[in-house]
Amino acid sequence: MEEMNELFYTNPYLREFDATVLACTEGKKGFEVVLDNTAFYPEGGGQPADHGHLNEAVVSDVRRQNGVIVHFTDKALEVGAVVHGKLDWERRYDNMQNHTGEHVLSGVINNAFGYENVGFHMHEDAITIDMSGPMTEEEVIAMEKAANDMIKADIAVDISFPTAEERAAMGFRMKKELTGKVRIVNIPSADCCACCGTHVKSTQEVGIIKVLSATKHRGGTRIEFVCGDRALRDFTKKHDEVIKASRLLSVKPDEVATAVEKTLQTLAARDERIAQLNLRYFEMKTATLPGDQKVLVLFEEGLTPFELKVFATQLAQAKKADVTAVLAAAASADGSPTYNYVIAWDDARLREASKALNTRLSGRGGGKDMVQGSFKAARADIEAAINDVFTPYFN
Ligand SMILES: [Zn+2]
Repeated sequence: MEEMNELFYTNPYLREFDATVLACTEGKKGFEVVLDNTAFYPEGGGQPADHGHLNEAVVSDVRRQNGVIVHFTDKALEVGAVVHGKLDWERRYDNMQNHTGEHVLSGVINNAFGYENVGFHMHEDAITIDMSGPMTEEEVIAMEKAANDMIKADIAVDISFPTAEERAAMGFRMKKELTGKVRIVNIPSADCCACCGTHVKSTQEVGIIKVLSATKHRGGTRIEFVCGDRALRDFTKKHDEVIKASRLLSVKPDEVATAVEKTLQTLAARDERIAQLNLRYFEMKTATLPGDQKVLVLFEEGLTPFELKVFATQLAQAKKADVTAVLAAAASADGSPTYNYVIAWDDARLREASKALNTRLSGRGGGKDMVQGSFKAARADIEAAINDVFTPYFN
């Protein structure tokens, strides 16, 4: 590690460089390029690979393969030629801020609780760390504050390669078993950890650490967080959403949750009232229908599948007919007539009758004591089919 040709270690702030192409072969995903030196960080230690350009070629991935750094590009590069490398700096600096922030947060938790970071992932939007023990919400908030205090303290990030004896005296966090030359990232009073990633030179450059969530995970705690510019982007995105919601609800931004809670309560009360009105309507409608019918087919405007079921149950209990079918027009993707249905018949042959109807009316659905689903057919065809299918059972 930290070889002279690995410029991302000798100068992690290097955005552009020149290098000679040592090899270029065509692979499964474009071209695989090896250079005599590079500022492109290869994926590793939880940190994603750098992106950018080598001349006109787009670098979409970088990996260390058999000790050699391979750049994955969309264009071939001439072996022996000197090429100009340019990093997607926004991406790299974002990774440096977030990676360093991870050290600080993992470190303060390790210092306070003795928990290890047993899982570290840098996703596109957020970082997750899996700490090896349980933490309460208050403890996570306290650690977030402690980490931000470390950032404000502007502590220099020190990189060193101590000997095995020196390492033994240091007491650093380990992400995995270590052999050979070990790169130690030390943030005095915050964290000391073996790591191969790229970091900012001072904690102040992390800017801010914001925890997004903390959940129980395999006996420990999974903490999702964002740092630096990424935290600002996250704040801006959520702030915009809150502002939109506050305008829709006509309340101040910090009263959105209370207003949503109130609105949900109002809606629940309204749903309850609608359900009561529906029941009364179903009762009145049921009372107007003659009894002792064999097959009763009713089309009702605007009923949901649940309401169809309530109505069908009521009609069946009132014994207005042997077979009760209630239907309502439903939305269809292609604009062809579609109806939701519920059919009640206290008879084991309901299933076979339902299958026959589905076949004839391009329908789907089923059930046991009642069948429900939808038919893709016109109203007149549905009425005719229900009568055709059920009437023979009563002859
Ligand atoms: Zn690191």
